[in-house]
Amino acid sequence: MTFILASNNMGKLREFKEILEPLGIGVVPQALAGIDFEVNETGDTFEENAYLKASTVAQVTRFPAVADDSGLCVDALDGAPGVHSARFGGGKDWTDKQKYDYLLEKLDGVTDRSAKFVSCICCVFPDGRILRARGECPGMILTEPHGDAGFGYDPVFAPEGYAKSFGELGQELKNTISHRARALAAFREELERNGIC
Ligand code: IMP
Repeated sequence: MTFILASNNMGKLREFKEILEPLGIGVVPQALAGIDFEVNETGDTFEENAYLKASTVAQVTRFPAVADDSGLCVDALDGAPGVHSARFGGGKDWTDKQKYDYLLEKLDGVTDRSAKFVSCICCVFPDGRILRARGECPGMILTEPHGDAGFGYDPVFAPEGYAKSFGELGQELKNTISHRARALAAFREELERNGIC
């Protein structure tokens, strides 16, 4: 079974491949399937946006498509940036570093640093079947960036139980405890429950 990943995010692609390929599931980025546009994420929830991305790519390519909509929810910011994580601050044109520096600025002097990463996966098959899965990873926002592994906000997020950021802990560990790893584990169970793998 091969899925088209409805994303151009290389960090996500790498994590999907590392976790799904050992299970015999291929993952092909949308660009290789001829999709040269990004689906507008107009939903209010991670679930809605994941569905919008996967259903659009499945419809256009006629192949099973899988999408992850994910983000960082910070308690002291009432859950922001949340579904707007990729567009936080100056928008999509900002680098990851500009976005996490902006987050650190907003949290300057704030003592409650609790946060969580959320990943919602949606898989849409050309025959209309839909599978969904969700994973969360609680943790804390550090006061300065550490490490350069991973992508996005990884240098400023320390998962619960660790005093180091995902940027320092590295990809191998991240792939066992991250929101995406947990969502992918739940997704795998859904695939098995539905007799797909
Ligand atoms: P979207 O799912 O394409 O809307 O993008 C989610 C955004 O959330 C990414 O661009 C990152 O900024 C952030 N994000 C999601 N997952 C992770 C992660 O595993 N590490 C760090 N940042 C992440």
